[in-house]
Amino acid sequence: MTNSPTCHKCFASRRCGHYHLYVIELDFELTKNRTFMIANPHYRKGMDCLYVGSTSHTCECRFKQHREHAKKEKLGYDCVCDGKEKFHEFVRGGGHTRGSYYPGVYGLRLRPDLFVKYNPLIDQKNTMMMEAKLANMLRFQGFAVWQH
Ligand SMILES: [Zn+2]
Ligand SMILES: [Zn+2]
Repeated sequence: MTNSPTCHKCFASRRCGHYHLYVIELDFELTKNRTFMIANPHYRKGMDCLYVGSTSHTCECRFKQHREHAKKEKLGYDCVCDGKEKFHEFVRGGGHTRGSYYPGVYGLRLRPDLFVKYNPLIDQKNTMMMEAKLANMLRFQGFAVWQH
């Protein structure tokens, strides 16, 4: 077992049981997207587009969930956070979904260089606050950021 590159307490195939912030790099294509750019008036040309989120899964598993959710034919995803594969069904069209549109369709890779130092986080309320804080901090640095 090796330590995860995205959390100081997770292992590659087992989550630590705490919360995580994660940042996904998104395709530059999004700089042509009006809705996305309206949310980012301070974007500096040439900087990356990012998605900021939080999860109790490993960041790798959560990234995979985004990608799988974007594929219309997929009914769910395999979570491997607890040492063995477990199938989770997507609930589409309202209710609890595993997807925000942008990271699923435009997500390129996780960017642990921008978030590993925060992980893990202990309580959920603090995690939500930190998620918004990190998004603002990255926007301030000139990145284009989507966060929900
Ligand atoms: Zn962890
Ligand atoms: Zn998982």
